[in-house]
Amino acid sequence: MKISRVEAIPYAIPYRKPLAFASGAVATADHVLVRVHTDDGVVGQADAPPRPFTYGETPTSIRSVVTELFAPAIEGLSILDREQVRGRLERTVGNPVAKAAVDMAVWDAIGQTLGASVTELLGGFTDRVRVSHMVGFAEPAAMVAEAERVRDTYGITVFKVKVGRRPYRLDVDVCRALRAGLGDDVELYVDGNRGWTASESARALAEMADLGLTMAEELCPADDVLGRRWLVQQSPIPFFADESVARPGEVTRELLSGAATGISLKTSRTGFTTSQRLVGLCEGLGVEVVVGNQIDTQVGSLCSAAFAAAYELTSRRAAELSNFLDMTDDLLADPLVIEHGELKVREGPGLGIAVDPERLERYRLDT
Ligand SMILES: [Mg+2]
Repeated sequence: MKISRVEAIPYAIPYRKPLAFASGAVATADHVLVRVHTDDGVVGQADAPPRPFTYGETPTSIRSVVTELFAPAIEGLSILDREQVRGRLERTVGNPVAKAAVDMAVWDAIGQTLGASVTELLGGFTDRVRVSHMVGFAEPAAMVAEAERVRDTYGITVFKVKVGRRPYRLDVDVCRALRAGLGDDVELYVDGNRGWTASESARALAEMADLGLTMAEELCPADDVLGRRWLVQQSPIPFFADESVARPGEVTRELLSGAATGISLKTSRTGFTTSQRLVGLCEGLGVEVVVGNQIDTQVGSLCSAAFAAAYELTSRRAAELSNFLDMTDDLLADPLVIEHGELKVREGPGLGIAVDPERLERYRLDT
């Protein structure tokens, strides 16, 4: 059960159409597959999606930090020494996505070794999660058409609408068109990716007050400290923090300072070991959690789903798990299926990630 080797394999798979939002756009999944090998032949795997516009990491930086710093630091440890692994990764500042992938690959190896699914190991609350679909920037009619197609094809009835364009009127028109087109039976919420100012956010929320939005995420920057607090205090709906709460200390600060009333949790940046701490923290503070999407592949979505299903708090809201639908292909041999608006967790062992060797050969960039 000792960690013998850690691999970081860069690969690229194009999207059918770019996903655009206020802080960036993604046209190709330029990711890194992280593999943790043990001396008894187990291979734990997880995906690292670099998001330079959020965390400053790139495919090259992830590969470097994993092979040059993390691998030598954890080789020789037992896969069960999760806190030792975490402690040694945390000696390096930053690099949340690289750390998370190593952590989740270790958990995958533990599950395979013990013959249990990661969801069972973490908490085993349920075996499936409701799925929320993210609708990226486009003209109102195109965004409505996409949501209708996703609802009719996959049974998804929860939509996260990307907002944060300036001027903000276009976004308000989109939300109004979505409510009119989809009716009252779907859940709608918005994510601004810091694109609006606090006052633009306040005006937009007031103009959308009749649309029944269930929450608003990161509409303006958390670094606009007073403006953000002013906005959250008057927000008629829960205000979720996402990119401003990548670490437990940031979660505490944002919540206690009144800059957020809910938290987006992403396993692709806090892995499983640190995400467990966030669940405890949020439960202790009485704060809601949504499991978010880092524009994940199917491998990444399996990790998010495994965690979301493990706890009551994380499975209560629909989890954002459907970004992979916009990809032309994936590394998984057996594709994920969203049916009746739900994604079932793989029974395991581990995370149930079976990478197709031919696809990996086709898409990897290091051979
Ligand atoms: Mg977000």
